Amino acid sequence: QPTVIICIGMAGSGKTTFMQRLNSHIHTVKAPGYVVNLDPAVAQLPFGANIDIRDTVNYKEVMKQYNLGPNGGILTALNLFTTKFDQVLNLIDKRAPTLDYILLDTPGQIEIFTWSASGTIITDTLAATYPTVVAYIVDTPRSTSPATFMSNMLYAVSILYKTKLPFVLVFNKTDVVDHAFAVEWMTDFEAFQAALEDDESYMGGLVGSMCLVLEEFYKGIRVAGVSAMTGHGVDDFFEKIAEARTEYETEYRPEIERLL
Ligand code: GDP
Ligand code: MG
Repeated sequence: QPTVIICIGMAGSGKTTFMQRLNSHIHTVKAPGYVVNLDPAVAQLPFGANIDIRDTVNYKEVMKQYNLGPNGGILTALNLFTTKFDQVLNLIDKRAPTLDYILLDTPGQIEIFTWSASGTIITDTLAATYPTVVAYIVDTPRSTSPATFMSNMLYAVSILYKTKLPFVLVFNKTDVVDHAFAVEWMTDFEAFQAALEDDESYMGGLVGSMCLVLEEFYKGIRVAGVSAMTGHGVDDFFEKIAEARTEYETEYRPEIERLL
């Protein structure tokens, strides 16, 4: 069975560029993959998608027809696509025996996928059949202040608890800023607290309790530092994906089978 990798992250974190990198990597190592684009608003895709939401729905037409703004248009396009997701699954099921990976790119705005019924349906449906892993992409250069770092991590926590899927935290753009500071903050609690107390946007007591939540989160999390631009760290990323897949098989799958 192929491993499904769902790329999720803030707008501009580099999901699409990372997808392109993953796609070219699996071609290089001759691991057959299947690529799905779920972003109806992407102008140009730097990779060839096997399934592209833009072939099914034109989000600009959706905006006009339903009198919506851009975000409403993207969400409605995703909803319309999801009504046909059984057909997508059929296509995937047919190809699955020959595949190693199924890669999914999600809309630029993170909440359109993570907090919509459609995003949940797509994620849960895939995860019911295939070993599925979330790659949470972080814009490392934009997370160097303790406060932005913490809010990004809290967002990651919320997705982890919502999907309950194995998680790989991907620090992207390491060609610009190395992710060593992030690893330090995640492993040395006091270093992070000290950095936070130096930060002007520090919010006292609340931060202390959020740090405890994060400490718990960090314990079980896998981290990879990559550059989607240069390809640095991609081998290590795939090793983390293999570990996450094992976690799916030992923890998530038995839970599904118990519920069915
Ligand atoms: P998305 O909105 O998450 O899909 O992000 P994109 O893949 O469209 O990337 C947003 C911007 O970040 C683009 O200008 C990319 O060229 C840039 N970018 C993505 N990955 C990297 C990286 O590893 N290093 C650098 N320097 N820039 C990157
Ligand atoms: Mg994108």
